[in-house]
Amino acid sequence: MIKISIDKAKCIGCGACEAVCDKTFGLKDNIAFVKQQPKALTCEKEASDSCPVNAISIK
Ligand code: SF4
Repeated sequence: MIKISIDKAKCIGCGACEAVCDKTFGLKDNIAFVKQQPKALTCEKEASDSCPVNAISIK
């Protein structure tokens, strides 16, 4: 099973993850959160790569 997590302490709320992959990532109070865990990876890796502070991990 895929598990996406966001290190909220690292997140700077830039919105890149949401811009790249808004089915999985959202922003609330300028901190990213996982809307729902994906069944299969589509844009999540790209979102992780686009994060300037490496706050997104995919397992
Ligand atoms: S790309 Fe990274 S820093 Fe930007 S909102 Fe998403 S998790 Fe936060």
